[in-house]
Formats: sequence, structure tokens, C-alpha cells
Amino acid sequence: MRISIAVVGVLLAATAAAQNASGDAYRAEARKLAERSGFMGTYTLQCRQGNELPPALFQPGAPPPTQLFDNFYYVGLNSVGAYVLRTSAGLILIDTLNTADDAKQVIVAGMQSLGLDPREIKYILVSHGHGDHYGGAKWLAETYGARVVASGIDWDVMSQPRPARAGGANGRPPPNWGPPPSRDVVATDGEVLTLGDTSITMVLTPGHTPGTLSFILPVFHRGQRHMLAMWGGTNIPANPEAQRQYLAAFDHFATFTRKLGVDVELSNHPFVDDSLARMEQLRANPKGPNPLVIGVQRYEDYVGILKNCALAAQ
Ligand SMILES: [Zn+2]
Repeated sequence: MRISIAVVGVLLAATAAAQNASGDAYRAEARKLAERSGFMGTYTLQCRQGNELPPALFQPGAPPPTQLFDNFYYVGLNSVGAYVLRTSAGLILIDTLNTADDAKQVIVAGMQSLGLDPREIKYILVSHGHGDHYGGAKWLAETYGARVVASGIDWDVMSQPRPARAGGANGRPPPNWGPPPSRDVVATDGEVLTLGDTSITMVLTPGHTPGTLSFILPVFHRGQRHMLAMWGGTNIPANPEAQRQYLAAFDHFATFTRKLGVDVELSNHPFVDDSLARMEQLRANPKGPNPLVIGVQRYEDYVGILKNCALAAQ
């Protein structure tokens, strides 16, 4: 008996060692991609070990509202993003920050400073059913008559009683999220939403939440067309089934991004991919090259970092 327990112990130790070794191999691959592409911050954040929420999620304040492309704008916080896409028939808002106050003081004020009229918002896309993305949606939709779009599954997530949120990193309380918007438009996997001259492809990429939506849309830099991808939920889930979904979602999303030739990425949390620094570069040198245009290969490297860090976490 004593021997078999010892054998089991050795086997368990060997399995754990093998898991650590493969985790290390995935982290090494992610690091290689980060060095090649320059996304070291993404590597450090996503391949961190342990389940603590990143302190950057609780960083106060907002960058100046920034025009990122001819037709695309940032009106979010340092901790979480909100973006405006301008079309020939009105505006599409992607994500809405934590609360109605954020919507008024950051999104609406930011839009006005950039010459965008919030009454022109026709659609509000909610990337996933966490309050830092939907918290301002109800007020915006009711104030400006915009339609709110989310996946069916995450409409359900939003309507459930809110889970107690792990929060208070660095001693800060979690934000008091606004109420969810009233259930409205349901986006399905691969659906294309068209407003005027502009079409957004919406892809189901579950994992971070069961119905996370990621987006692919055209942006223009001085008239030149590029394709932008926004991964809808970045923090790696702890639950094994959600991790499996999250990994599969990368491959599913890639079938769309490759077909559409994505060469720009942005995150709905701007600290994930050094967007805050890249926006600052853009503001400092508005006539220079656009640091958000990274090309197809660096885009693939960026996604490779996210995926390898998720594999390491498994
Ligand atoms: Zn989230």
C-alpha cells in the first residue's frame, strides 16, 4: 500500500512537472512573439500567473478624446474603452464604460470635443455582458434613441443578478456599474451590421463571457482603407470549460480576420495593447505614420501572444 501511494505521488509530481514544462513552453513562445512584434506589455499582462485582476483595470482618469482614424475615435477611460465609428448614416458606439455618469462626462463630452453629435448614435454595440462595457448603455440608449446590440447569450448574462465582483485592486472599490440596458437587438455569429456606407462583422468569441462578441470593421487613415479587429473579452477565464471555449474562439475569429485582411487591432481595455501610449504618439505627431496600423504579421503575432498565454494558463 505504501508503495502504490508512493507511485501515485511520483506520477502526480511527473504530471505537474509536465504541465509546468508545457506552460513554460507556451510562455516562451508568447515572449518570442512579443519581442518580435513589440507587444511586450501584452505578454507581461496576459502571461502573468495567478488570478488577480490587473491593477490597470482600476487606474483612474481618461486620456484626451482622440481621433484614431478618419472615421474612428476613442472616447474612453484609461481602464476601459469606448469607441465611435462614423458612417455616412450616423454613428456606432462600441462599449459604454461603467455608468451613466461615465457616459455623460467621458463619452458624450469626448464626442462633443471631437465634433461628434451624440444624437447621431444609431447603434450601441456591447462587446460582453460585464458592467464596465454596458454600464452607460441604458442612459445613452434612452437619451439618444439608439439601438443596443449584444449576443443573445450575453443579453442573458446582463439580465442575471450581478455576481459579486472581485475588485478593489490597490484598495480601490470596484465601480458601481450602471443597470443593464433593456434587451434589444440580438447579434448572431458572423452577422454583418451595416449603417450607411459601413459594415461591421460581429463574431461570437466566447470564453471571457459565454457570449462575448468581437468586431471587425473598416477604418481609414488619410483615405487609405485598413481593417480593424477588436477582441471582445481579454482576461483569461479560470473555469476549464470557459478556457476551452476561449481557445477555440481564437481559431474561429481567425477565419474572419484572415479573410478580411486585418492589419489593425485595438482592445476594449486600452492598457492591454499599449494603446494609451500609441494614442499619445498619434496626438503628438498627427501628420506622422499611424502607430495603430501594424500590418497583418504583427496582428497575427499579437493574437499569438493572447493565445499562447491562454494555453499556458490551462
Ligand atoms: Zn469583462
